[in-house]
Amino acid sequence: MLVKGIAFRLALDLPPEAIFLLQGFRLAVNKAVRASLDARVSSRYGITKLLYRTFREEHPGMYAQHLVSSFEVTAGILKNHRKRLRHGRRCGTPFVKRLMMKAENQAYKLDRTEGMIDLPIRAGCHVKLRLVVSQYHRRYLNDETLSLGSLTVLPDRVIVAFRRESPRPIAASSVLSLDTNERSLDGIFVEGGRNGDTSCVQVKATFPEVAMIQQRHHERRRRLQKKKAHDRRLTRVLCGREGAREHHRIDYQMHHVADAVLEFAEDHRSAIVLEDLRGMRPNKGKELNRRLSLWPRRKLHQIIEYKAAWKGIPVIKVDPRYSSRRCPACGRISDSRMGTEFACECGWHLDRHINASINLLQTAISKGLEVVGGLRFSPGAFQHDVVMTLYEPAMAARSEPNGTSHFGVTS
Ligand SMILES: [Zn+2]
Repeated sequence: MLVKGIAFRLALDLPPEAIFLLQGFRLAVNKAVRASLDARVSSRYGITKLLYRTFREEHPGMYAQHLVSSFEVTAGILKNHRKRLRHGRRCGTPFVKRLMMKAENQAYKLDRTEGMIDLPIRAGCHVKLRLVVSQYHRRYLNDETLSLGSLTVLPDRVIVAFRRESPRPIAASSVLSLDTNERSLDGIFVEGGRNGDTSCVQVKATFPEVAMIQQRHHERRRRLQKKKAHDRRLTRVLCGREGAREHHRIDYQMHHVADAVLEFAEDHRSAIVLEDLRGMRPNKGKELNRRLSLWPRRKLHQIIEYKAAWKGIPVIKVDPRYSSRRCPACGRISDSRMGTEFACECGWHLDRHINASINLLQTAISKGLEVVGGLRFSPGAFQHDVVMTLYEPAMAARSEPNGTSHFGVTS
């Protein structure tokens, strides 16, 4: 099952009853977090068993389903908390600061034509929330194959989870193999011809701003640390804020890149081959200047994978070992990394990144992963003079949907 959260703004401010509900919900979550930590329970079932009865008495004004959903939110918070502890990070008792509430799909009604939410507060008291519906939102509201999941209510907007069965993967007739770099995706597009021959051209998606954003925020954080050295708490708050801003900006860019790549893949019925970035560490010590973090590249892969799953585009992840050192023509593995160009004793030479993407595709094929039936890459099919641009920063100027997306997958 795939889930996609779509944010809607509210046409009017939240009515006081709903604000009251949000406050009650937040209070319930924060109390439940403390009680569960004390009692050492962390599953939703355990929390419900432990607290339902007392909470029912303490929150008589709250619809019972919302109370159960507060335990679900609590379980989620505790899960993150345990993860932080496991990673050895220092952290106190977690709590929810922002006003929020979450309602399960039986606990609210959405009129998909009118764009109106009916949210029960308690027996006999419901509020209606009118949503601002754009064309982008219409696509989701009108799509009857999408069912409704949970509803998250925030003071200025709501997030509706739309759910759908994972679509059957499309039968791919071409491959997009991409090597992920700090400032670009570089790769090849391989398409099989009618009489068994293949054509292969270079593709490119560039995102130079991401590295710039990282650099700039890194410098800003360093300045902050120096300037506010006397106050560690303040430094932490300010640096945290810088980090959140940086992540937002990079996230935004990466969505554009992913959209462009997937639009191409959808049009050409391509499977996508990517390197598996797990376990990869930015190589340190080699250069004096700081290596950029892997986070944006991992994020980009995450977005591509979620969006591809939604569209039924197959994504194949392969081990990138030797991908930058192997010659795709003769298979020789050179000892050291090259400059910008990969050159082999056998005479094969090519841009280093493009070469890596060819190796990724060959690894995928040699591992017997289902890429595209019968499709092979032959070095002879490579057209050196053709480069297709999937994305470049100027393309970001296109109009955007005025809604934000949050992706998630549940099984
Ligand atoms: Zn060679």
